[in-house]
Amino acid sequence: MSTIDGLPPLREVIAAHELSAKKALGQNFLLDLNLTAKIARVAGDLGGTDVLEIGPGPGGLTRGLLAEGARRVLAVEKDARCLAALAEIAAVYPGRLEVVNGDALAVDPLAHLAPPVKIVANLPYNVGTELLVRWLTPADWPPFWSSLTLMFQKEVAERIVALPGSKAYGRLAILAQWRAEARIALRLPPEAFTPPPKVSSAVVHLTALPRPRFEADPAVLERVVAAAFGQRRKMLRSSLKGLAPEIEDLLRMAGIAPTERAEQIPLEGFCALARALAAAERS
Ligand code: SAM
Repeated sequence: MSTIDGLPPLREVIAAHELSAKKALGQNFLLDLNLTAKIARVAGDLGGTDVLEIGPGPGGLTRGLLAEGARRVLAVEKDARCLAALAEIAAVYPGRLEVVNGDALAVDPLAHLAPPVKIVANLPYNVGTELLVRWLTPADWPPFWSSLTLMFQKEVAERIVALPGSKAYGRLAILAQWRAEARIALRLPPEAFTPPPKVSSAVVHLTALPRPRFEADPAVLERVVAAAFGQRRKMLRSSLKGLAPEIEDLLRMAGIAPTERAEQIPLEGFCALARALAAAERS
């Protein structure tokens, strides 16, 4: 069977390099190159753009990104078994694919790429949320990336785009929607992956806003949101009392009734509370 890039089909790559999936590394591979090209297209026009990919595995999404015209791809992969397969892709796209064998949590992408960067990844489930939160909470904004196109378990994707009052609303919705435009772009059944995971998946597309929707210090907002949703269903005056002795006054200053619950408070309210808390801590 021939492929668009002349490389072997992914099933053959996996067999040739003996890449049996390791559960501990979250390895659920995408083998359909039409699907990986479709995911790459969710990221928009890749011409003239550097792309950071986390966890390329045997390279299905990497091939999609390169075929769709990415100027350069930096692919960070923890599993050294995948390196030979990835080197074969690099040979077909000279100068356009750099592979780093390491942990995505420890690699500095800016040592390799020039911003603005698009990040596109079928993320390993065990580090996906941690990476997302890290990309959303730098001290300065705008960040080094212009968009994120990321595969998550369906439940996590729904938490990212959730609105106040819904069950999925919480820390991820607030951090994502504060500084980015977030939408679910594609939904995939377990059978889209080899081996199929237990749950469905979805690709989330986030575009970095030029400025956050409401002013707040990221570290203070994170503290407020972690405390507010750490004890769901409790009134805010009790879930937040550890943050400041005068929390009821601060809630009122932010326009929030102290008897409200976190699930009901819109993003604007959390940002107002973070500003009130920061001001109280400064004085
Ligand atoms: N991108 C490939 C695809 O779509 O078929 C593989 C996706 S698979 C869900 C996740 C990949 O991330 C695996 O190749 C795994 O080895 C890699 N991985 C797991 N933990 C990692 C980490 N901390 N840093 C970098 N890569 C990691």
